[in-house]
Amino acid sequence: MAQILDGITVRNEILARLKPRIQKLSRPPGLAVVLVGHNPASEVYVRNKVKACAELGFYSDKLTPPDTISTAELLAIIEQLNQRYDIDGILVQMPLPKQVDARQVLEAIAPGKDADGFHPLNVGHLVAGRPGPQACTPAGVMELLKYYKIPVAGRRAVVVGRSDIVGKPQALMLLHESATVTICHSRTPNLPEECRRADILVAAIGRPAFVTADFIGPGATVIDVGINRVTTAEEAAAIGKAEEFAKKGSVLVGDVNPVDAMRVAGAFTPVPGGVGPLTIAMLMANTVALSERRQGATP
Ligand code: NAP
Repeated sequence: MAQILDGITVRNEILARLKPRIQKLSRPPGLAVVLVGHNPASEVYVRNKVKACAELGFYSDKLTPPDTISTAELLAIIEQLNQRYDIDGILVQMPLPKQVDARQVLEAIAPGKDADGFHPLNVGHLVAGRPGPQACTPAGVMELLKYYKIPVAGRRAVVVGRSDIVGKPQALMLLHESATVTICHSRTPNLPEECRRADILVAAIGRPAFVTADFIGPGATVIDVGINRVTTAEEAAAIGKAEEFAKKGSVLVGDVNPVDAMRVAGAFTPVPGGVGPLTIAMLMANTVALSERRQGATP
């Protein structure tokens, strides 16, 4: 039986470490969250982010422009937030409506207020191994590995997925910790074979229970970044969640089949309760660090 890597414990530890740093500041850290339109998933994410701000005593400002907004109008909102003294971090919830140029919007956020670490300057800092805000989900994965004392240096890490928000920054962070890193994607031949070689396998694909037993080397650490909703009884049964499905009518599953991970892996992150809670914790950590820098405080 694999060890379950509990993200909630790690999240609590990260938030507890932030509290004394927040108390040392002369004013609370301020986070602005821009939520365009009414995407239900985005509304849930934003609600959880605002809630985390309240729990930590942050100042937060939620802006909710309509989904008819133009790129120029959204850029004007960002510019105002860039100028505001009380705002240390800015987050624009993705996805944005089709008519908005998301890249232009992300690049308009002042790099010193880039709570998500998506600005090209901060991505460059990550590549160069320099300090700066980093993408929250992969940064959370690194905290989880550290918390559970899972060795990274000299280990073979395989990251499946090459998105700008998870796969690419994850690979860089593992590389900086001296793992030997392979990045796989939809054009990788022999994917199960590549994955089986991993001591640490990170799945950030967006396909429910895609990673099965034949992808997992015995004893490997499996990090499941995926969040997918399964809506058929057959799929739910295949991942050992038939009972939960019968009660709720749908269940959450990651990119890894949890039944297989439990059987073959040495340790793995559950969904929910694994990587998910860490993303918001690292958003809070980025915002505290940005606030410290703007207020001239030392961590
Ligand atoms: P994304 O932008 O859609 O990227 C998915 C990646 O998976 C792409 O690089 C794609 O390859 C690769 N891929 C797709 N099908 C594949 C296949 N059959 N074989 C191998 N590779 C394949 O997704 P993302 O934003 O990185 O998110 C990935 C998952 O993580 C999603 O389930 C998302 O909901 C979840 N997520 C969770 C959190 C959290 O807080 N836990 C945060 C962010 C994302 P190509 O590049 O070749 O197309």
